[in-house]
Amino acid sequence: MSDSYDLVVIGAGPAGYPAAIRGGQNKLKVACVDEWKNTDGTYTFGGTCLNAGCIPSKALLESSELYHRAKEEFAQHGIRIGEIKLDLAQMQKRRAAIVKGMTSGIAALLKAAGVVGLQGHGRLLPGNRVQVRGHDGSEKTLQAKHVVLASGSTPIRLSAVPHDGKYIVDSWNALEFDAVPKRLGVIGAGVIGLELGSVWRRLGSEVTVLEALADLLPMVDQAVAREAQRHFNKQGLDIKLGAKVLRAAASGAAVDVVYSDAQGEHTLQVDKLVVAVGRRPFTEDLLAEGTGVELDARGFIEVDEHCRTAAPNVWAIGDVVRGAMLAHKGKEEGIMVADLIAGRYGEVNYKVIPSVIYTAPEIAWVGLTEEQVKASGRPYKVGTFPFAASGRARAMEAAQGMAKVVAATDDDEILGVHVIGPMAGELIAEAVLAMEYSASTEDIQRTIHAHPTLCEAIHEAALAADKRAIDAINR
Ligand code: FAD
Ligand code: AMP
Repeated sequence: MSDSYDLVVIGAGPAGYPAAIRGGQNKLKVACVDEWKNTDGTYTFGGTCLNAGCIPSKALLESSELYHRAKEEFAQHGIRIGEIKLDLAQMQKRRAAIVKGMTSGIAALLKAAGVVGLQGHGRLLPGNRVQVRGHDGSEKTLQAKHVVLASGSTPIRLSAVPHDGKYIVDSWNALEFDAVPKRLGVIGAGVIGLELGSVWRRLGSEVTVLEALADLLPMVDQAVAREAQRHFNKQGLDIKLGAKVLRAAASGAAVDVVYSDAQGEHTLQVDKLVVAVGRRPFTEDLLAEGTGVELDARGFIEVDEHCRTAAPNVWAIGDVVRGAMLAHKGKEEGIMVADLIAGRYGEVNYKVIPSVIYTAPEIAWVGLTEEQVKASGRPYKVGTFPFAASGRARAMEAAQGMAKVVAATDDDEILGVHVIGPMAGELIAEAVLAMEYSASTEDIQRTIHAHPTLCEAIHEAALAADKRAIDAINR
């Protein structure tokens, strides 16, 4: 029977497509169905991450940072150039071309792994059958031994802040602006709000970020969060903490935003307002009656530590299940599940998932914050190293921030590593590998790091945990 598969994956984002590819590598007969539709009407694989998230945001972060550095920093290097002009149309064209290249790459990868890629809506029926409604109007039912649900997430909308896609927008719209808004409001100082705020600030917008919580980045090590706040303020990002947005309305070509803080109610007028208050699991029309798959109170598909749902041979991975909403977390879950289905070993080490915020300076961490270790009661030590003491960072004109290692006093195990500074997202990989191998600070101390490199900061921070740093004063 041609419509019978070992594995059918619903969703081809960074969780679903790796599950499908690993399934193909494991010699399973695999189909992967995805309904993503772009603003230009095209259909592509890759999900939120490639089409409207990680990749386009990083493309614009890079372009806007280069523009900013050309304007503000080149003279410092002794490079004098004429007037620097922004060509936003070209910047957006480049962003779109990167996305197109990456998403067509996924189609090619699926094909190379022998996966049947289908574009349309997938719906799980009882008995591990998947109904597929193609964008071309076709309809068929696939029989599957195993089904993986990877339907991802969607932006949370606030009912008192009605989305219109033009003035009141979500993160996807905010990546596709065709003009720089003079005044930009952002609701939410989470990762997405800060990254988008940074892009448009660098390109010339006056950016105000309204954040309901009293503290910036509560999930980040607080020494790092404080340092980040200093830099964002200096860059002119106006972050109002303890500012809860109550409502907003577009009137004419502007948006009036009403928020409350300790001083009372205020109105802010902006030209565009980005709602970046988080994402929710997306399960619309995914599950027919009687599949046995259960959702929790917040709408996430319930799974065990191996991503099994309550229904036999139905699995769920990525943003639609508990845990960090990160592309690489979904990817590892997809690989684990496809290996388990094929009878192989599979495991995700949820304690060692890195996080990165691609602002300037970049912020990255893995494991526990100092606050979390302190609360656990386990005796600990801390080593920090400022990038101001890094020759490479100085040569790059990027000597801001620090690396910080938190380790247990008793057995020297590394419990968390936190970096704010140049290329933090790349530097954190060393710490992730070290923690995956349960390394001690001594292991990093005895590992040779090339000079001059940014990763020497991790080496020196590990040395500093025992007050043995060489290139900084031990405190
Ligand atoms: P998704 O990527 O959402 O993919 C799900 C896919 O399933 C979609 O294509 C959807 O159309 C499809 N689908 C849903 N239901 C059905 C159905 N019934 N039938 C067929 N298809 C269906 N994460 C990082 O790790 N690093 C970053 O730098 C980063 N930056 C981000 C920036 C922004 C602006 C945003 C919005 C997110 C960012 N993220 C980042 C988060 C990341 O995009 C998500 O964690 C990731 O995309 C989740 O992957 P997923 O496969 O679970 O879901
Ligand atoms: P994240 O979940 O990391 O994407 O961050 C979203 C942020 O939006 C959180 O820090 C929330 O506190 C914040 N937030 C949610 N609702 C509001 C609101 N009405 N006004 C201001 N901030 C909000």
